[in-house]
Amino acid sequence: MEYQALHDRLTARLNALSKAPKFGEQKPIGAVLEENGVSRRDFMKWAAGVTTLLALPASFTPLVAEAAELTDRIPVVWLHMAECTGCSESLLRSDAPTIDSLIFDYISLEYHETVMAASGWQAEHNLEEAIKNYKGRYILMVEGGIPAGSSEFYLTVGPMGKHGAEHAREAAANAAAIFAIGTCSSFGGVQAAHPNPTNAQPLSKITNKPVINVPGCPPSEKNIVGNVLHYILFGTLPALDAYNRPKWAYGMRIHDLCERRGRFDAGEFVQEFGDEGAKKGYCLYKVGCKGPYTFNNCSRERFNQHTSWPVQAGHGCIGCSEPDFWDKMGPFEEPLAFKPFSSIDADATADKVGVALLTATAIGIAAHAAISAFKKSE
Ligand code: SF4
Ligand code: SF4
Repeated sequence: MEYQALHDRLTARLNALSKAPKFGEQKPIGAVLEENGVSRRDFMKWAAGVTTLLALPASFTPLVAEAAELTDRIPVVWLHMAECTGCSESLLRSDAPTIDSLIFDYISLEYHETVMAASGWQAEHNLEEAIKNYKGRYILMVEGGIPAGSSEFYLTVGPMGKHGAEHAREAAANAAAIFAIGTCSSFGGVQAAHPNPTNAQPLSKITNKPVINVPGCPPSEKNIVGNVLHYILFGTLPALDAYNRPKWAYGMRIHDLCERRGRFDAGEFVQEFGDEGAKKGYCLYKVGCKGPYTFNNCSRERFNQHTSWPVQAGHGCIGCSEPDFWDKMGPFEEPLAFKPFSSIDADATADKVGVALLTATAIGIAAHAAISAFKKSE
């Protein structure tokens, strides 16, 4: 019954949105997908996957498909701050575009410095126009940490030499929804790592409006596109965790759904890269996997159309979607065995049984490591 009420609410929202004007003269998304070799059947399979990703019942799949078809009705302003552009690149550059990247291309990107033709004064003018014309209606996505230093290290953007923070603040003021894309924008990232010479800050410290964090280095394209579709469907903020990450994407640990979890529970660990355990697919905890401390859906969704993910390829998770991971998760190829698991500030929804088990295991591993070190020094 509750689902029926939700279904009716989302249907009404999509109906209203379908009457809104399109931005630009794009072909319908169906034609764009077909040109890229994606059949309607593939598209509906993709929509079914996104429906599951958003923790909605399978009967909502046609609504998710319709939301994807309406992505040209919501203008998006995407700003770059101090970053490597990896979040944009991971989404836009691929030999064979995924459905997610095609949908992202289809979104009405009113301003994006990497993909737009304009530059200099023209680009600045386009940004001002987008903010003015779509006041209160556009989605703002910001990539990169934001230097807030007052000395020579600060960031300037555009021909008027505006502070990056000023740019972000102005765009945030009139946005309908704000997403910090990637770990740098969500938590400061490598720019904010010790000693943080530019005083880089996350977007949430620059504006006092609500910011939804979509961390990852880079975040998966599914999590970026999923957030846009969630906004189109609901028009409201999703349920968020303690770090303002959407729970549908960051509600579980990497470790919870890892295919090597059985090995972890059985105490079967890779001791060094390339050993017998590595060949047998043992757990990567002892060679640095931070999956037990990291909330993200990589182990479930994987990358490149569900092809693989770091742990499947043989390297541990480095905890890239956690705050301050550069400072807290290193060295990346050594375990955090000496840090008690409970010292990592995790979501209150943590599975207590798993926490207890992990703490005990971590202590066991720490003791083992300490004994080994002691023996070596004898
Ligand atoms: S420690 Fe890493 S490799 Fe081992 S089960 Fe957890 S997530 Fe998987
Ligand atoms: S597996 Fe870990 S390090 Fe890799 S993308 Fe996912 S959260 Fe980041």
